[in-house]
Amino acid sequence: MSEALRAALIDKAVNVIAVNAEALTKLDQAIGDGDHGINLKRGFEAVASERDQLISLNVADALQKAGMILVMKVGGASGPLYGSLLMGMAKAAKAGHDIEGQLREGIAAVRKRGKSDRGAKTMLDVLIPVQETLQEHHDLSRPEMIMAIRQTADEAREATKAMLATRGRASFLGERSIGHYDPGATSCQLLIKAICDVVEEQV
Ligand code: ADP
Ligand code: MG
Repeated sequence: MSEALRAALIDKAVNVIAVNAEALTKLDQAIGDGDHGINLKRGFEAVASERDQLISLNVADALQKAGMILVMKVGGASGPLYGSLLMGMAKAAKAGHDIEGQLREGIAAVRKRGKSDRGAKTMLDVLIPVQETLQEHHDLSRPEMIMAIRQTADEAREATKAMLATRGRASFLGERSIGHYDPGATSCQLLIKAICDVVEEQV
């Protein structure tokens, strides 16, 4: 991965969180405590402030470092969960796995840390379908794959609206969590689509 690509990934991720922080916080006001956008903005700004060093590192070390920054700066439930995701990905990257293998390992770390799985109305409800798309459609061309991932991320986020939350703060609402998008699933959707944009520009 080139330095330019790494820089673009960081910049785009930081930007998409900054632009959508308010909307994410609104979603969290409906079924949580209204801090998801603020939490992530703080975390990604901290990542941005380490941009030069992150760009100079190999992928595994950069993921590990960014994950640690998120754990320390994001706070809330999502800090350790996003941190676990990136650090799990770092471990797989170090072992030589491709992006699908990295995401798989990252998801396993989130599952473990969050004691949760698919269907609980969380970020996993976007991450897992996207990983499955990567796994099932590895024969697609890069543009087709990008299209498939965008579509999966959109549909998966959409599907969280009808779900009953059984993990995280939203679960305290019981049935009243139904009818609202999950904030963490939405931030994952936004970040995944931002990565798609960057990769597409490289083609
Ligand atoms: P907090 O809930 O502590 O205020 P945030 O508002 O930053 O933290 O993040 C909330 C998001 O974190 C949820 O929308 C959900 O996607 C995710 N989340 C919360 N708990 C879990 C869990 N146990 N497993 C997976 N994801 C979770
Ligand atoms: Mg919250």
